[in-house]
Amino acid sequence: MLKGKTALVTGSTSGIGLGMALALARSGANVMLNGFGDAEGPKAQVAALGGRVSYHGADMSKPADIEAMVRACEAEFGAVDILVNNAGIQHVANVEDFPVERWDAIIAINLSSAFHTMRCALPGMKQRNWGRVLNIASVHGLVASAQKSAYVAAKHGIVGLTKAAALESATTGVTVNAICPGWVLTPLVQKQVDARAAQAGVSNEEAKRQLLAEKQPSLQFTTPEQLAELALFLCSPAADNIRGVAWNVDGGWVAQ
Ligand code: NAD
Repeated sequence: MLKGKTALVTGSTSGIGLGMALALARSGANVMLNGFGDAEGPKAQVAALGGRVSYHGADMSKPADIEAMVRACEAEFGAVDILVNNAGIQHVANVEDFPVERWDAIIAINLSSAFHTMRCALPGMKQRNWGRVLNIASVHGLVASAQKSAYVAAKHGIVGLTKAAALESATTGVTVNAICPGWVLTPLVQKQVDARAAQAGVSNEEAKRQLLAEKQPSLQFTTPEQLAELALFLCSPAADNIRGVAWNVDGGWVAQ
């Protein structure tokens, strides 16, 4: 389905981003990976699916790095056709205790980075009259949780950014949408499970059960593979007129 298209997936060395990169590659897209940590393992996983794969180590808190990454993708593959803004971090504390440096980092990585990738990639998409921007927001783009002020602010922000950019490209072949997952068991969430287990003196399994029971009525984690299937649908012709949505995949979280 995506043969000849190129996908740039930020934060794709791990978790949801890696799941997106694998699914896009399986559908025939060339993929540029990004993110911290080991890049060789993810690169090999994507390459094993047969498509072309590359990696750029841009720090998503740095606008100049981000522009260089988009330009590198265009130089290597000729285009950025599918842009998945996925890189993200979390920090948990009350507003009055929130480290200023963590606030700035979360806003930069979880929100401003998507402005910069879109600023750089949208002109090419509009020129070719085809493009897909998928912003990985969160249920926290729709509702809040205590102690996550920066994350909630950034994710509400990216839902707004998605809507504005979708309107600006509404008469073109470029669509801009957000995906809003609830709990997905990735390293980002495992840290929160570990903290809960340590604080409550319970097992890892019990901490996971409590985490789900608090917010996610299905009592099941969403998987990166399920989110990737939604991303593929949003890349398909059936989704040509889906614009500016914030699509929750959350086991009923925001239905409550
Ligand atoms: P993760 O920790 O597994 O992956 C995060 C990725 O972002 C990694 O590849 C990491 O290297 C990269 N990254 C972090 N800081 C970066 C930086 N400065 N520059 C470049 N790359 C950077 O987390 P995940 O759970 O897969 O999260 C991916 C996205 O999904 C995030 O935006 C997160 O907010 C969102 N999300 C996650 C969940 C969940 O339950 N896991 C729920 C809703 C939304």
